[in-house]
Amino acid sequence: MNVRDTVPLPPFLNVIRSSSRLSYMQEQFMLMAIEKAREGVKEGQEPFGSCVVKDGKVLSLTNSTITQDNDPTAHAEMNAIREACKTIRFPDLTGCEIYATFKPCEMCMEAIKRAGISTVYYGAGPGDVKYPTLLMELNIRSGIALDECLELVSVKYSSLK
Ligand SMILES: [Zn+2]
Repeated sequence: MNVRDTVPLPPFLNVIRSSSRLSYMQEQFMLMAIEKAREGVKEGQEPFGSCVVKDGKVLSLTNSTITQDNDPTAHAEMNAIREACKTIRFPDLTGCEIYATFKPCEMCMEAIKRAGISTVYYGAGPGDVKYPTLLMELNIRSGIALDECLELVSVKYSSLK
């Protein structure tokens, strides 16, 4: 039986936590992500792996490369999304599944949604370990050069003004 995640998510993003109903191939995809994470650890990277799969075919298999790339966004899942899009030469992964060794963070979840991926499989999550909470305060100012900025997006969005 699949156990739904307790964190509210948009209905189109289906998080499947239980491994009891995974097929042999799905288990293999997760094992591949785990092995990739292990490779990364050997190279001094964070212990996370991920892969993107479509119709049983692996489009990408990546690990976290934050320190290697000096890129705080180079999480395993972000890398997997980037690589998968390069593989298919298209910025839309609708119909794909993503496997991750750890529950994707908010940045990665948003990227997963924006990529069109609708199914996430992950291994461990923040509820399984002592997990640090980001407590940094973010100062945000908005409405700066509003008219010019609105003009930029007018080709994409209708103004509410
Ligand atoms: Zn992440």
